[in-house]
Formats: sequence, structure tokens, C-alpha cells
Amino acid sequence: MKALVLSARWEPRPGYVVSEFEGMSGKALEGSNVWRHPQLEVKDVPDPRPGPGEVLLRVCACGICGSDVHFYETDTNGYMLYPGLTKFPTVIGHEFAGEVVEKGPGPEGAHLNRGDRVTAEEMVWCGYCRPCRDGFPNQCLNLEEIGFTVPGAMAEYIVVPAKLCWKVDPIFERYPDTTTAWTVAATVEPTCVAYNTIFECAGGIRPGAYVAVFGAGPIGLAAVQLAKAAGATKVIAFEVSPIRQKLAHNVGADYVLDPSRTGAAEALLELTHGEGVDLAVEAAGAPERTIPAMEKAMAIGGKIAVVGRAAQRVPMYLERFQTRKAKLFGAQGHSGYGIFPSVIRMMGAGLVDNSKIVTARFALGQALEAIKQATKRVDGKIVVMP
Ligand SMILES: [Zn+2]
Ligand SMILES: [Zn+2]
Repeated sequence: MKALVLSARWEPRPGYVVSEFEGMSGKALEGSNVWRHPQLEVKDVPDPRPGPGEVLLRVCACGICGSDVHFYETDTNGYMLYPGLTKFPTVIGHEFAGEVVEKGPGPEGAHLNRGDRVTAEEMVWCGYCRPCRDGFPNQCLNLEEIGFTVPGAMAEYIVVPAKLCWKVDPIFERYPDTTTAWTVAATVEPTCVAYNTIFECAGGIRPGAYVAVFGAGPIGLAAVQLAKAAGATKVIAFEVSPIRQKLAHNVGADYVLDPSRTGAAEALLELTHGEGVDLAVEAAGAPERTIPAMEKAMAIGGKIAVVGRAAQRVPMYLERFQTRKAKLFGAQGHSGYGIFPSVIRMMGAGLVDNSKIVTARFALGQALEAIKQATKRVDGKIVVMP
């Protein structure tokens, strides 16, 4: 079959100490310190076969994520920008939906049948480590990640554990056009990241809340929609890219501001009549700029939820957290807690409409062009349709 394969050279930066785990597993914990000269190519790879507990999917749509772009982009020394867990070469792509074409042996896939239309979690949690058994799958100690450490979905077919698959029928009931339905189904994964951030990690909002979302990429755009669906009365989005500003408007943000032009804290205080926001979501990955603004504009009892990634320390004025009885929450992942089925239901009900954020579609043969297009950062979600 055809697949978009990423290869890179294992050349740890001078001074980077390769851990025993990394040496044994071939997995880099900090990709940007290890992988050099990444190359992407659409090529023929062996057809995957489902083993026990696995299913074979025909991939119908696969979205391009910021992580995929950071696999391809490098710093001046040729190291990839993506900072996290990775093992190459592999097929990339982790936001996908497809049709079950074959089930492997074993009872694990009992909830699936051939022909089922599904999406899948990207995080392959083990289910037997202590965090998994304690109900924290997003903190699994034996994590594999589809499209990062094991083959992903920029391909005609993918094999995934059956336990990660969720049927997307409500999305097909909502969108009679199947191309639209598949592209929307491929956006369930990033939407689940936003759901996990707001509702699972930060404990949600009350109807009537004021919410600020910093960064209107796919996670931020999902956060805007989820906050509105949960009854936020004002959702204020901050975004520098003009196209993403427009998308934030389209998905229901009440105000969309450019933080490079407007003082974010002052704007939030003005829009909330001095009360501040009940929840601020960091989805920009620029905490050194966003957290100080959030801090100044927090309501009493306010919450900050951090989902954007940035490997850096951030100055915080804790006095402010004390006087405001404020809280800060860290979030990663999307698994567990009924998140996937809840998001699929919300999409089926039209409470989240990601058909508005897909701005380009490419065939699998053009997957490299699709990634190059994504590096321009002028699109919403770009989807490859094998
Ligand atoms: Zn992603
Ligand atoms: Zn685990």
C-alpha cells in the first residue's frame, strides 16, 4: 500500500544524554534533541495485518496536526522541531477516521463489525500500568502513539487496537455528504483534546461563564465551540493569524482579538466589566506571553487550563492566585472518561461543527504537498483523503 513515511537520522545533539530507555527502545523522549534531517516521502510499504485484539481500517480521512508540521520543519542545525516522544521511520498521521475491513483474532474487537465507520484514539495506553489501572490513561507509562512511535494513518490502511476505536455514526447522520462526514470524523481526536482540557482536567464551566481561549488552532477552535455548548455567555478568542481569526468567528467566538495589537488582559477586563474570566484556555503554546495576561484577567475562583505545549519555564505571580482563589490545571491527551463518545455525540447534535474549520483536502499521493501547504499556516484544518 501507499503511505507517507517519515524518516530521520538518530543524531543526538552534543550534550544530550541518551537515556537507557531511549537506547533500548529506539524511542526519543525529546524528538527535537535527537532526530535530524527529517524526510517525508509517499512510498510503498507492506500491507499491515491485524493481530490479536487489533482491527484493520481502510483510512478515509486523516487530518494534518501541528505536530506533523513540526516533524517536517527543522531548526538551523537540521533538528526536527517536534519536542516529544517519537520513533522513526514511521508512517505519520494520527487524526483519522476509516472503515473496519478486518478484525484480528481474539475477543477484544467484539464491539466492532466489518463495515463499521470509526475514529480512534491516538494514544495507545497499555491498560496495565499503575496510572492506567488508576484511571489515568493519558499518563500511561508504556505509551505508544499512533503516527509518532507506531505507524499512523497517512496511508491506505492502518492497524489499530480495537480498544481505541469509536463508532462515528452520529456524524454520518448529521452530514449526509459522506466526504464531509469523513473529514469531520477525522477531527474528533483534536476536539477530544480540548474536551479533556476543559471538562476532565479543569472541571468544566458553569453556564453563564466568561471564557478566554488563547490560540485558535484546531484545539482552540474546539475549545471555543465546547465552551459555547456548555453555556458560556462570552467566549473571547485571541489569535494572530487572520484566517484563524475568521474561523474563530465562524465557530461562534463572541470576540476575536489579535493579541499582538490589543493588550489581552485589558481587553478581557473591559469585556467582562472588570470581573475577569472564569476559565482561560492556553492553546497557543506561548505561555510566557499568555499566562501573565490570564493571571491579570482571572475572575475570583477563576481557572487556567494549559494544553498548548511549550518546554519552558513561565514566570507567575502566585499572590494573584491566592487573592483570587484561582487555579491552574495541566492537560494532555484525550483518552478515557467517555470523552470520545461524548464528542461524537456533540458533533452529531451540531453542538460542535468542524465542517467549518476544514479548509483544504488532498489525495494521499499529494500528502507531502499537503504538509508543505500546512507549513504556510494559512489554513484551518487540512485533511488528506486516501
Ligand atoms: Zn495532533
Ligand atoms: Zn499504561
